[in-house]
Amino acid sequence: MPSSTSADRRVILFDVDGTLVHAAGAGRRALGRVLVSELGQIDHALSGLRLDGMTDRLIVREVLDTLGHPFDDALCDRLLADYVEALRDEIGGPGFEVLRGVEPLLGTLAASGATVGLCTGNVAEGARLKLARGGIDHFFEWGPDAIAGFAHDGEARERIVRAALDRGSARLGSPLHPSDALVVGDTPRDVSAARAHGVPVLAVATGRFSEGELRDAGADGVLPSLEGAAPALLAWLAGGRTPGVPA
Ligand SMILES: [Mg+2]
Repeated sequence: MPSSTSADRRVILFDVDGTLVHAAGAGRRALGRVLVSELGQIDHALSGLRLDGMTDRLIVREVLDTLGHPFDDALCDRLLADYVEALRDEIGGPGFEVLRGVEPLLGTLAASGATVGLCTGNVAEGARLKLARGGIDHFFEWGPDAIAGFAHDGEARERIVRAALDRGSARLGSPLHPSDALVVGDTPRDVSAARAHGVPVLAVATGRFSEGELRDAGADGVLPSLEGAAPALLAWLAGGRTPGVPA
């Protein structure tokens, strides 16, 4: 039985795309615009890529590789800065949605005083733009001290999970044990990155992956969506088992 101290310290780390919102291709369109303007090339480099769960830095690396263009960090930084500017326009396009159950869930968690953060392959400003479009950015803290992991923390998603744990530890004043964090995500990449650090994962089938695929990927718990998930997440915060684990 986890101690009450442990339960008090528990943190929920949300992925963004496919978990909280569906950005309807805004990120892909924004990056396509940047490729055209910066590299003078059409965005066919993006067409075959399955971006789900990839970090923005890894996406840039794979796109440059597809175009036969050498990767370097300065170029990657510039492309991602331009991407954020393009995303400011594209995020306003049609089809954007906050996924079902998300807003009431975040409201319930906020009202309960839960500690929530982000664990996303987006660059921080990209994540903020996407959540602001849906009016749910205010449920999260922003800035260098926020409990979060973003694309600038590394290309590999594992490094983003590590960064979120480290920021959680800094905020809490002592090490955040991996089992006191819960990653909520929608792809096998969310699952493997969290599991690499011993962090339990609740996977939701609101992205491109089915419940079965997410279970096969090793998710601890799987739910069809976050609709109605508040009681299970509050129970986990209080020291209970991972939501979505079969009884
Ligand atoms: Mg996702």
